[in-house]
Amino acid sequence: MKQRINLLIGFSVVALFVLMTVQCYLVKTAYEYKVAQFHTQIKNEIAQITNNYSDIDSALVSRKEMLYKSLSEKYMKGKKSKLDLKNGILNTQTQNIITQKIKRKFEKDLPDFKIDFAIVLNKFILYKNEQEADTIFSEKPFIQNKLYGNLASLNHAFLVRSYVGTTNGTFENEEYKLLTEDSMYVSVIDWEMIILRRMTFILILSLFSIATLISLFVIAIRALIKQKKVSDVKTDFINNITHELKTPLATLGISTKILAQKNIRDNDENFNSIVNTISRQNNRLQNLIDQVMANSLAENEIELQKEKIEAEDFLLSIVNDFKITFPKINLKTDFQTEKTILVLDKFHLTTAFLNVLENAVKYGSNTIIVKTKIVEKQFSISFEDDGIGIAKNKQAFLFDKFYRVEQGNLHNTKGLGLGLYYVDQIVKAHQGSVNVISDLGKGTQFTILLKV
Ligand code: ADP
Repeated sequence: MKQRINLLIGFSVVALFVLMTVQCYLVKTAYEYKVAQFHTQIKNEIAQITNNYSDIDSALVSRKEMLYKSLSEKYMKGKKSKLDLKNGILNTQTQNIITQKIKRKFEKDLPDFKIDFAIVLNKFILYKNEQEADTIFSEKPFIQNKLYGNLASLNHAFLVRSYVGTTNGTFENEEYKLLTEDSMYVSVIDWEMIILRRMTFILILSLFSIATLISLFVIAIRALIKQKKVSDVKTDFINNITHELKTPLATLGISTKILAQKNIRDNDENFNSIVNTISRQNNRLQNLIDQVMANSLAENEIELQKEKIEAEDFLLSIVNDFKITFPKINLKTDFQTEKTILVLDKFHLTTAFLNVLENAVKYGSNTIIVKTKIVEKQFSISFEDDGIGIAKNKQAFLFDKFYRVEQGNLHNTKGLGLGLYYVDQIVKAHQGSVNVISDLGKGTQFTILLKV
């Protein structure tokens, strides 16, 4: 059973882990999809507002074309190198003005987003005639080739569009053509937050479902463990009570068989001895049944018949009766109180105190000391024995119903695990408390505190 529970827990943990991995994968995929969707949205919206540069400022654009032409012609004359031409193209005076204009356009037309951008020139090719192409430069998008914009790096930016432009001109009566290609990169400030906000519903839903699954799992496993504990306790109880019932029943069976013999019936002494045995076994069976019945009541169902009594007298009468039953046990009293009047149920408390005393004998004591004193305005009764003691890790369960400390062989000492449970219930019904101090091999001390 324990192995099956462990297996079940193992499987459930793996299943939970797989489910969580799938969930994380789905959230990641949804995130990537949202990012792609966001990029497409930004691309479309930007495409609508900057379809071509003349939308922004046609005068400046034509000034830029004039500059390209004059630089190219100087290059063709041999007055400028390719590098000079490139530097001339990239360091134009119109740069700042166009950057500001595009920025303002973004702010006006896309007020929901804060956009940084860069337009970089990737290609500049000069066609002197249709066949002859002179590539001034052709590079991958590169922030150093920035024409306009306020981005310092392309690392976290995405491509919005590429723009290919052609300009025609004549140089020394020959037609030439300029081909330029530039790309616009943008980066939306706080884009991660925008996407996370768009995913709030998915995130909350998946966190909620994972939390629900984990809680359900924990509840189910706890219920399973508790059920297993209850079933173990029941099995132990059935084993114990069967064992307890077998001995008196076997003795009764043998006794009746003996009584059936005529020679036994004729001898008074033998006859009385058998009848005494039958009566003792009958009492034992009755006690067992009473014990089970008494413990079937819950703490709040116990009806106490309280009366005012002198606690020390009451304890002394129990001690004296006990001495008669167990003459070999050295039972001593050490009362540090006198004539304390308490309101108690004598019947139930007698049984409870006897349970503690009988346990001391059952679990190996020869000497028992019963002490009374006043502790923090409470009447304290302690039963100190020199028996086998109780391991520290078992002490928390002592007052549980049916709990018995395993002693190797379960039936070494008889018992149903109900004695201390009963003590606890009765003391609690008196609004008192019971605790234990013990060390394995060094004896045990049970202390009962009652209201004065
Ligand atoms: P039972 O005696 O029928 O087993 P109890 O509820 O009276 O049940 O006691 C629970 C367990 O506590 C016992 O099984 C025993 O192991 C331990 N125990 C109780 N009293 C003592 C004691 N005085 N010394 C050592 N162990 C004790």
